[in-house]
Amino acid sequence: MKKTTAIVLAAGSGKRMKSSIRKQYLMIEDKPLLYYSLKAFDDSFIDNIVLVTGKGEEQFCREEIINKYDIRKVSAIVEGGKERYHSVAYGLRAVNWECDYVFIHDGARPFIDNEILKRALDDVVRTRACVVGMPVKDTVKISDINGYVADTPARSLVWQIQTPQVFEKELISDAYEKLLFREEELLKDGVNITDDAMVVEFFTDVKVKLTEGSYRNIKITTPEDLDIAKIFINK
Ligand code: C5P
Repeated sequence: MKKTTAIVLAAGSGKRMKSSIRKQYLMIEDKPLLYYSLKAFDDSFIDNIVLVTGKGEEQFCREEIINKYDIRKVSAIVEGGKERYHSVAYGLRAVNWECDYVFIHDGARPFIDNEILKRALDDVVRTRACVVGMPVKDTVKISDINGYVADTPARSLVWQIQTPQVFEKELISDAYEKLLFREEELLKDGVNITDDAMVVEFFTDVKVKLTEGSYRNIKITTPEDLDIAKIFINK
């Protein structure tokens, strides 16, 4: 059996939520947002979970989420970094057990489910790298720096990318170490790393497969997303 680890990211500041409580700890119905994705991985075929939290939040997560809701697969809790890619890199460094595939997931996406995880596992075994996403529903425009339309990509080829993003362990760890080594240079060139696939695209020759996610697998970012989440939970 192949061994799998999930890295669940919860070290963001959640500024766009405009709340005094960090968004990953906001209650949705009667449980914190972060609970839902941890529970989904805990109930799935995933063997281990690495939780990446903000500075000084480890004990809170252990007491108020992991112990309280009996989440059993968390093997490590590590402190995240300034940008999402730092948090991922630190999470990857914590994986010191047998692991073939890593599922990198935003803790702010509570509606990940077993069907998506199985599709992603099938794809990563075949292709070494895959990211979950869905075709866009709206037409997408590329803007120029002055706010005018520069291009309109064919809608049938445009996907909105979600998580988990799933990779062979060695492939993604090596790519992230290269990223950290060359970070300054990339920053100088104005490169903004916003997902894990980009790191594989930049530093390896491996092509990243697009795996069907779900339109429910939303990221809770702004206050109106909380209303949508409540509807999904009560359905
Ligand atoms: O900021 P963004 O919406 O891309 O964040 C996606 C996920 O990454 C969230 O779950 C957030 O907590 C996490 N993150 C992190 N460390 C950061 C920034 C974001 O773990 N420095």
